Amino acid sequence: MSRIARVVVDVTGVDKPFDYLIPDALAAQAVVGARVRVPLHRREVPGWVMSVLDAPASDVDTEKLLPLAKVTSIGPSTEIVELAEWAAERWASRRRPFFVSASPERRIPRLVAPRRTSSSTAAEPLLGTGGGLVRVGPASSAMHVVENAMSCGPVLVVVPTLARARRVAAECRRRGRTTALYPDDWASAASGVDVVVGARSAVWSSAPQLGAIVVIDEHDDTLQEERAPTWHARDVAIERARRLGVPCLLASAVPTIAARAWAGTRVTDAPDANQWPPVRVIDRNADERWASSLVTSALIELLRDHSKRVVCVLNVKGRARSVACDACRTVARCEVCDAGMTEPDAGRLVCARCAAERPVVCLACGSQRMRSIRIGISRLRDELEAAAGRPVQEVKPTTGALDPRVSVFVGTEAVLHRVDRADAVVFLDLDSELLAPRFRASEQALDLVAHGARLVAPSASVAGGELVIQTTVPDHELISGLASGDLTAYVVAETARRQRLRLPPFGALAEVSGAGAAEAAAHLRGSLLVEVAGDEDRLLVRAASWHALSEALRSLPKSRQRVRIAVDPARA
Ligand SMILES: [Zn+2]
Ligand SMILES: [Zn+2]
Repeated sequence: MSRIARVVVDVTGVDKPFDYLIPDALAAQAVVGARVRVPLHRREVPGWVMSVLDAPASDVDTEKLLPLAKVTSIGPSTEIVELAEWAAERWASRRRPFFVSASPERRIPRLVAPRRTSSSTAAEPLLGTGGGLVRVGPASSAMHVVENAMSCGPVLVVVPTLARARRVAAECRRRGRTTALYPDDWASAASGVDVVVGARSAVWSSAPQLGAIVVIDEHDDTLQEERAPTWHARDVAIERARRLGVPCLLASAVPTIAARAWAGTRVTDAPDANQWPPVRVIDRNADERWASSLVTSALIELLRDHSKRVVCVLNVKGRARSVACDACRTVARCEVCDAGMTEPDAGRLVCARCAAERPVVCLACGSQRMRSIRIGISRLRDELEAAAGRPVQEVKPTTGALDPRVSVFVGTEAVLHRVDRADAVVFLDLDSELLAPRFRASEQALDLVAHGARLVAPSASVAGGELVIQTTVPDHELISGLASGDLTAYVVAETARRQRLRLPPFGALAEVSGAGAAEAAAHLRGSLLVEVAGDEDRLLVRAASWHALSEALRSLPKSRQRVRIAVDPARA
């Protein structure tokens, strides 16, 4: 017993690793990553071997150590254990959640022989430059990106949902590739196949000898874990590829500022990159009832054409309570960060995103009278039905089957996942996303529009439809970019805003909440590494880099009260 296993225990709330002696009988199996059982406070608990030390060479006092009880299964590879260590620092977290994502759900005694076919030929120039960003069309499956990446060897493919992962896996198998779906086929993925594919946790697959990593729809928020640690599969994929020295390809129809900043000039367009449906912009200001109703005259006209299947989208969660000029109807926007302004009390306008303030004055016409835009949405379905002269179904997350006799649907973003085809997708009020007080608001609005584009994409049997965007800010760079099919000006403006405000990817941001937040705030305010804003139960902590942020957050003293730390929060 001359070797020591340093073990991360699978116990909520315990991060400190513990050392155990490796009995000779378990020496062969007790390798880095192995699932083990160890004694802890007179109980036996599960855990993972994080590292193996040579007892004589270490400064550990072996006299006091207990032996490992058993090795129950193989676990994540050494590569993944090291990547988890990086991720725990990157997202200022405990190690355990990463070990959980990287582990098989069932006991796996051993790996099997790898199954691989020969690789194909390369057609993607980015593969020679360490990878980069591939712009694809909104309806693209991005299969050609996967196919190209296979010229480098085995490929790990990460997609936003398991449903899409199944489709990619089926297509890869159809093309004769040995394929593992993560996490179901954990063991064959870890043994070695041509393609490993799965939703975000697949980035933790112990797939050996990878030749490339592909992330499809890198802009999709489902690639980020919602609970803390809020790790993002795109960022883990980039780091993993960098460590392995293999190319990482990010595919997206609406690439994020983070992906663009990472790729720099390493950007290519897939043949379908510019195949967007036509985008029609409806200026709500031009309508009589602009401040109270979302049913514009142009929308009424569209709904009255009963040959058209129409999907109306309205996000009600976290809607911006904007104000607009009473004289010229210009929506009050923040000069610093572009979000909508609110008028919490008479005499001042406050930005809900960055807290900038200014007196009540319209920047367009100088008028000092504002009115708040209050859209009545409780009777929206009735209003649409009256306008359309045909039945309208409201689609909620709890809605069962869609009514086959109905051809107009209204709902939140979820409606885009329920209806599979439409002649028009109407965003009733894109401003509520675009001007929302979240730093990634415009990207989230773009994601929504890209989802809509899938529903109206042409297929072999039907012609394509259109996207309709209702807005009160038709001159916003994002809206005019969508209308003209060129988002360059938007990307330049949004990049400049993020740089100016030092928001990710040009700075690091974390949201600290929970009962212990006030105590954390007191401690963090003393740190030179970070700036702290917000109130006592929800803090925003900013730093120049994630290294500085992580150093400050990890120096927080142990608290009895719960603190939730969300690094790069999607919805902050
Ligand atoms: Zn005005
Ligand atoms: Zn602002």
